[in-house]
Amino acid sequence: MSEKGGRRDTRIVQAGRRKQWTQGIVSPPVWRASTILFDNVAALEAATPDDGILYYGRQGTPTQWALADALTELEPGAAGTRLFGSGVAGIAVALMAVLNPGDELLMVDSAYAPTRIFCNDVLARMGVKTIYYDPLIGDGIAGLIGERTRAIFVESPGSLTFEVQDVPAICRVAKSRGVATLLDNTWATPLLFPAIQAGIDLTILSCTKYVVGHADAMLGSVTANADYWPQLLKASRAFGQQAAPDDAFLGARGLRTLGVRLRQHEASGLRVARWLKDQPQVARVLHPALPDCPGHEIWARDFLGASGLFSFELKGGSAADRAALIDGLDHFGIGYSWGGFESLALPVDPQRLRRIPRWQGEGPMIRLHIGLEDPDDLIEDLALGLAGYPGP
Ligand SMILES: *Cc1c(COP(=O)(O)O)cnc(C)c1O
Repeated sequence: MSEKGGRRDTRIVQAGRRKQWTQGIVSPPVWRASTILFDNVAALEAATPDDGILYYGRQGTPTQWALADALTELEPGAAGTRLFGSGVAGIAVALMAVLNPGDELLMVDSAYAPTRIFCNDVLARMGVKTIYYDPLIGDGIAGLIGERTRAIFVESPGSLTFEVQDVPAICRVAKSRGVATLLDNTWATPLLFPAIQAGIDLTILSCTKYVVGHADAMLGSVTANADYWPQLLKASRAFGQQAAPDDAFLGARGLRTLGVRLRQHEASGLRVARWLKDQPQVARVLHPALPDCPGHEIWARDFLGASGLFSFELKGGSAADRAALIDGLDHFGIGYSWGGFESLALPVDPQRLRRIPRWQGEGPMIRLHIGLEDPDDLIEDLALGLAGYPGP
């Protein structure tokens, strides 16, 4: 690590740019490789598949090492980072790194849907039992830890419904019982929630979202503390995981502007969210920085800011009315993912997934990602859409 120190915005500029890897090039370039040639057999036999040593393409090149290094530097207390071809690949390998047949996993009920699928399908076949828990359980998680509990997975705020979890309390309980903690930190990134400092063992990002930031690459990362880094390294190698150098390049380039982008996403997102809260057609805005959001006080205690993703519920109306509202918006794209520079609107139905507790919605829900457009244009757009909404 270059360990030049400095405050967050300074570190984000300097992180992961070791001179011996970049040769002084400001943005670490794309090094593509499968075969790497050695001078002779002795050199081949002396090489090890570690970061910093050109060995074989799957072990990466300075392009991937630089991004992994940068993500480690941005996470105080971290020992190392592995990159993946997507966030879901990172989640899968992180879980496989800590779980064995016969183990039990405590999984938050507000988890990203593909995380649930991995648990219910793959982990179940491996003989790992998943027990879903209420995102607002806090230190009550102690009551769910049994003989076989090996890991607790948290995602805060939760996908679609944005409950903020008491991560420090859960980590305290987990540590005292020798249970591993994993966090999907995609919404906040280490800039808004330094996870390992909060007690998390393995923190996962879908870098596809805010790290890449331009909706043009798929990328995931898992960063571990010293206790779990050897296991993570072993598992990610065993599963043959590495990000493509071109995508790692886009991630490293996106990372340099993550701080300023997040500040704008936060400011514009809050403007839109606060405006929405006052509209007669809107039942509830689920944004961690607003009091209606379950766990808001924990967000205020633990987070250094908000990003630009939140949901709101309409008063009455049908799924078809909701679709018409979204279809009529001019400045919001309709599509999966988020974290790019553009605003997105997505119909979401947490009641199809949520069991603990069963989701009690107020009405049709829309998830918004607030991009870098002028928020006044976004508000005008939503105002027109809501004016035509039939309501209860
Ligand atoms: C998108 C997303 C993921 C998955 O990331 P991919 O890079 O799309 O595989 C994981 N967690 C959360 C919260 C997400 O929004």
